[in-house]
Amino acid sequence: MDNLIYLDHGSTTPTDQRVVEAMLPYFNKLYGNPSSIYSLARESKRAKEDAREEVAKLLNAKAEEIVFTSGGTEADNSAIKGIAFANKAKGNHIITSRIEHHAVLNTCKWLSGQGFTVSYIGVDKYGVLDLDELKGAITDKTILITIMHANNEVGVIEPLAEIARIAKDSGVCLHTDAVQTVGKIPVDVNVLGIDLLVLSGHKFYGPKGVGALYIRKGTKIASLLHGGYHEGNRRAGTENIPGIVGLGKVCKIAMEEREEDEKRVKALRDDLEERIAKKIDDIIVNGHPEMRLAGTLNICVKYIEGESMLLCLDHEGIAASSGSACTSASLEPSHVLTAMGIPAELAHGSLRFTLGRSNTKEDIDKVIEVLPPIVSKLRKMSPFGKG
Ligand SMILES: *Cc1c(COP(=O)(O)O)cnc(C)c1O
Repeated sequence: MDNLIYLDHGSTTPTDQRVVEAMLPYFNKLYGNPSSIYSLARESKRAKEDAREEVAKLLNAKAEEIVFTSGGTEADNSAIKGIAFANKAKGNHIITSRIEHHAVLNTCKWLSGQGFTVSYIGVDKYGVLDLDELKGAITDKTILITIMHANNEVGVIEPLAEIARIAKDSGVCLHTDAVQTVGKIPVDVNVLGIDLLVLSGHKFYGPKGVGALYIRKGTKIASLLHGGYHEGNRRAGTENIPGIVGLGKVCKIAMEEREEDEKRVKALRDDLEERIAKKIDDIIVNGHPEMRLAGTLNICVKYIEGESMLLCLDHEGIAASSGSACTSASLEPSHVLTAMGIPAELAHGSLRFTLGRSNTKEDIDKVIEVLPPIVSKLRKMSPFGKG
């Protein structure tokens, strides 16, 4: 895979070499269980608490407000179910959006079979949440609003600070899935006014299988996992120390390098976008023109299927995606593009490039060299017209 051009950073990222090195000693040298009392164990505990400080610093939170989890999915489940079950006596209504990641959507869906009711707020053609619809949906039974910070498919960044104001005015708890933004754009829980926030290591050059849940001090929440008294009795299970160390390290690197990275990535993305638009006709660019993650380019190519383009790109050594990795096995058109009002036949022709740290101008040149002929070839074979 040496010559692979990797343009799927929204699905996962390679673990930074510096992170791998920071983790290594914790597999077989400093392997103590942090709950034990000898010095080997204290070393693990210290490493864990240092990592907690780094995560907190990146979010401008307090260390004791951070709980380590097995990733974004667990953290989303913990936040949403935890608030739902702790506040049952107060109400049973949850508000979310129609463009959430499945870690949020399917958790809400499950809760709606457990006596909770869920409202799904719509978005405009750019994917931006309808704030009036949000305001109108809040009732005296609403206990949680959960809206993602940025969308994983189209990269649109939601107006979270405004959403937080609406939540606060109604005294409703606000959770955000910030898996796509942490380490990429500034995420300050106090500036944004968030009660719960989720991040995942492997989406910003950390290891897979580790993430964190930020819980604002004083928030009433139930635990998802029961067992030992780990993580301040909030998440049972012996901690994934190498992963946690890796997460701490990647947060530290993000603090120092995030801005430079994003500038570079945005320039590459803009170049790719411009040249694709010039070389291929009948495409549309999805997502907001400005309020969008620097590395994301999601397009719909008319008259052909995203999947066939992906296979042809793979043949050329280019890894991209047709929306989200999680839905690529299903034949349903993307729920995000559908919510944005894009017709199913167009949504089937979607292609997502998510650029990252490792990409170069040569990578973009290569895409521009191979994609237009792929599109022409597929369009010639297309049953949807446009030969
Ligand atoms: C990847 C992703 C998740 C899931 O995180 P995992 O650590 O892979 O479980 C949740 N939300 C969003 C927006 C994501 O992109």
